[in-house]
Amino acid sequence: MDQQNTARDLVWQSSQTSTQERRVLLKQSPVTLWMTGLSGAGKSTLAFHLEKRLIDAGHACFVLDGDNVRHGLNRDLGFSPHARTENIRRIAEVAKLMNAAGLIVITSFISPYRDDRSMAREIIGSDAFREVHISTTLQQCEHRDPKGLYQKARAGLISEFTGISAPYEPPIAPCLSLDTSASSVEACTERMLALIQPFLDETRR
Ligand code: ADP
Repeated sequence: MDQQNTARDLVWQSSQTSTQERRVLLKQSPVTLWMTGLSGAGKSTLAFHLEKRLIDAGHACFVLDGDNVRHGLNRDLGFSPHARTENIRRIAEVAKLMNAAGLIVITSFISPYRDDRSMAREIIGSDAFREVHISTTLQQCEHRDPKGLYQKARAGLISEFTGISAPYEPPIAPCLSLDTSASSVEACTERMLALIQPFLDETRR
């Protein structure tokens, strides 16, 4: 591939600022909160709710959301296992860049494969990676069917649909597990805020 042929001619350029300087500037330590779960589990709803709470509290953060990223950066990728892996690799690299810029990142992707999430953890770095399983059951997700996708998948109109015709591998030891059929958006958000509290500077507000 092209990029492999040219990689040997690339030289890393160093910044004149440090991660610590960015920490002081933004009064926070970068972290990526990685949400994983079935379609309709509540990832996007929680991600944008948490983002609003953090911004309102004066924290620089950004949501990387599945559908949004597939509109642009990953518009060339489908849903085969290989394409899903590449989808996650690119997102993890973007999250890493955003963390390097000092931002708190919230990712909202089904990310169904354990190996892909391990890869994301490796790219981002364990210290800044927090895995959150949005563990709402398939039955509940299918009942909600907010985008009508389960109905289409059951009718055979969508192939390789996670939970129906493609696998979902739940995390074995997530930092947090949230079942949105048992807890409110507010309660789930509080638990995620508690998880990332060590990264937030209390002196900000
Ligand atoms: P995903 O991003 O995981 O595909 P969405 O956030 O798009 O899921 O959809 C989840 C649906 O479930 C939304 O319609 C949302 O309003 C609903 N919902 C009900 N209760 C909750 C809750 N406690 N947390 C998150 N979403 C909830």
